[in-house]
Amino acid sequence: MRLFVAAELPDGVLDALVETQAALRECVTGRYVAPDSLHVTLAFLGSVDASRVPAIADALDDACAGLASFNVTTTGLGSFGRRAQATLWQGFGTSDEFTHLAQCVRKELTDRGFSFDSKTFLPHVTLMRKADIRSGVLPMPSIASGAISTVTLFKSDLSGPYPVYEPLHRVVLAESA
Ligand code: ATP
Ligand code: MG
Repeated sequence: MRLFVAAELPDGVLDALVETQAALRECVTGRYVAPDSLHVTLAFLGSVDASRVPAIADALDDACAGLASFNVTTTGLGSFGRRAQATLWQGFGTSDEFTHLAQCVRKELTDRGFSFDSKTFLPHVTLMRKADIRSGVLPMPSIASGAISTVTLFKSDLSGPYPVYEPLHRVVLAESA
């Protein structure tokens, strides 16, 4: 199965991301990510045997054991890839806590022998795929703050007309003091 680990987003931040998507619809064509699929990928594992899911769940439990929830704020838009078919995303302000969370998750996965895409963690939420941004016109994104408190192992099913992410294991971070 295709697996990835992601931070889920609080409602206030999700609302802002959906607002940004609405503004994008005015000027950019492409494939929009469904609101209930918006997330921040912490580690992309790719194809893993189903029998390894409990070990990954343990890794997430251990990675998150000492961590508290923390606040993040959305910032500007960015893109990956070719401008005719770009992946368009909204980022977050610099957050040591976000980076630390990704590092803790990746370390526990590594310690258990899992491999994952090891590109440097860049906290972002993909809003659109195959976006045509050749005009260079992009709207002002909506800004919001909220707490990151849930880390989830998702199964990704790409066999249908749009990606479906199924949560397999959730870890809730301790409340921050
Ligand atoms: P599609 O591939 O059909 O556009 P998707 O990218 O949403 O759909 P997946 O490819 O299963 O679905 O990816 C799940 C999550 O992992 C997404 O957030 C995606 O951006 C991220 N991801 C996918 N591949 C990689 C990779 N090689 N490195 C880092 N993150 C990845
Ligand atoms: Mg993909």
